[in-house]
Amino acid sequence: MNVLVIGGGLAARAFVNSLPPDVSCTVLLKNTRCSGNSRLAQGGIAVPLHPDDSVEKHWLDTMNCGAWQNDGERVWKMIETGLSLLKERKHLFDEKPDGSLAFGREGAHSLPRIVHAGGDRTGSYLMAAEDFTLEKSTRVLEHAEAEDLLIENGRCTGAVFRSRGKRYEIRADAVVLATGGTGSLFPYTSNFPGSTGDGQAMAVRAGMKLQDMEYIQFHPTLWVENGQTVQLISEALRGAGAVLRRADGSRLMKGVPGGDLAARDVTARAVDEERQKGQPVYLDIRSVTQIEKRFPFLYAEIQRRSSGPLLPVAAGAHFHMGGIPASLEGATAVPGLFAVGETACTGVHGANRLASNSLLEAIVTGTLCAESIAENASCGLGGITELPPPIRTESPDLPGLRRRIHEGLGVVRSNEQLDRLIEFLDSCPRSLEKTTALAAANMIQTAYITAIAAKNNNVPLGAHWKENTHEPTAAETTADPVF
Ligand SMILES: Cc1cc2nc3c(=O)[nH]c(=O)nc-3n(C[C@H](O)[C@H](O)[C@H](O)COP(=O)(O)OP(=O)(O)OC[C@H]3O[C@@H](n4cnc5c(N)ncnc54)[C@H](O)[C@@H]3O)c2cc1C
Repeated sequence: MNVLVIGGGLAARAFVNSLPPDVSCTVLLKNTRCSGNSRLAQGGIAVPLHPDDSVEKHWLDTMNCGAWQNDGERVWKMIETGLSLLKERKHLFDEKPDGSLAFGREGAHSLPRIVHAGGDRTGSYLMAAEDFTLEKSTRVLEHAEAEDLLIENGRCTGAVFRSRGKRYEIRADAVVLATGGTGSLFPYTSNFPGSTGDGQAMAVRAGMKLQDMEYIQFHPTLWVENGQTVQLISEALRGAGAVLRRADGSRLMKGVPGGDLAARDVTARAVDEERQKGQPVYLDIRSVTQIEKRFPFLYAEIQRRSSGPLLPVAAGAHFHMGGIPASLEGATAVPGLFAVGETACTGVHGANRLASNSLLEAIVTGTLCAESIAENASCGLGGITELPPPIRTESPDLPGLRRRIHEGLGVVRSNEQLDRLIEFLDSCPRSLEKTTALAAANMIQTAYITAIAAKNNNVPLGAHWKENTHEPTAAETTADPVF
């Protein structure tokens, strides 16, 4: 058996590094090793390592944030497995002067639970620590963009990819999709530019159904200037005392339960509502002490731009709870195809992700997937065959496409806007995936499935908020706890 991994973020790295050294593996990377969302993660990882914390408390916060739409059993297993995996990596995380772990606090967590590295550089520290261990049997191909999956007799047997203008086919006994999220479908996003939902689009083209696609988390505090995202401002800043203010200086979150540390969807809607009125919203960072030490990445950017202490913010696409239905071990409905990390939907996030649970999910799903695949693995790298090159075609207007997607699938949705978006996406050219307009093909495909899911769900829960729909009933907001 040989394994093909598509993507190189934390989920892919946890997968590859958990395979036995003699298992052969090819990794396709759309850009370079540095690209992806994992490296951008700032806040840290949620894990119940604090002496006052427990798996049960973390589980309860995750379920509450997910509006009880999560798969409780899997949430428990993710936290329990993550706890033991992160105990092994404890040395990576920031400590207090007394040598104990320094915990951050983020929205909707009932106590400080976020371990971090390099202050606000957790993602880049983890990606360095988890870099691919290049055993003889692993090859990493940069600038190798997967185009489609090969499905034969109902089984995934490899993928088509393109590199430097050419197209190739690569065969594998098992294919692991770890292509990350979909933030780049939207004009304002915290995500890296290649987050165009490629894995999700490939899965749909392979005949699979996606799950929970209407649940997209919008981050309430993207620092924006001149219509562009400068960078995400971690919720840890609000945990450290920063507050949201209107243009007249009044507190935006005053009177809202949870205040400045309310759940992300609540805060994102408050920020978006104010901006829809044409009014700016600012994050006031004056109360944050030792900002240069605790948030060096943000501080460097503030210094570079001579900005602050009031930073203009907007809500932008951040994390997709939905994706390819998969078990925590990555198994999907198609034999031979696995999905891990943000591209998968394991059901652990429900209708809304608890802050800093996604790096945890990436490490846990990558590791468990490798352990389950390794049982059947053997040596022999997959053969690569050249195919006819992609057909040259003009790409649709991507900024225009993003604007349309935002109008239909933004923070607050309506059936009328969704109908308009679905009609527009329906009219977009089909079969672009074999052309040079691959990114547009993936964006159109993923947005279409997401818009249909949002149209079909009239229960405004978690990150899916629709105007003129009924308040969720008790039965819709609760599920029987598994424990
Ligand atoms: C700014 C920011 C801050 C965040 N902060 C936190 C945080 O503090 N804590 C937390 O838990 N989560 C955080 N998140 C979310 C978290 O970073 C992601 O959910 C997680 O890193 C996803 O990991 P992944 O491996 O699934 O995907 P990614 O890390 O996004 O990796 C995807 C990989 O797939 C590759 N790829 C994509 N398409 C193709 C293709 N067609 N062919 C080949 N390769 C392809 C990409 O190049 C990349 O290598 C943050 C996200 C952002 C954007």
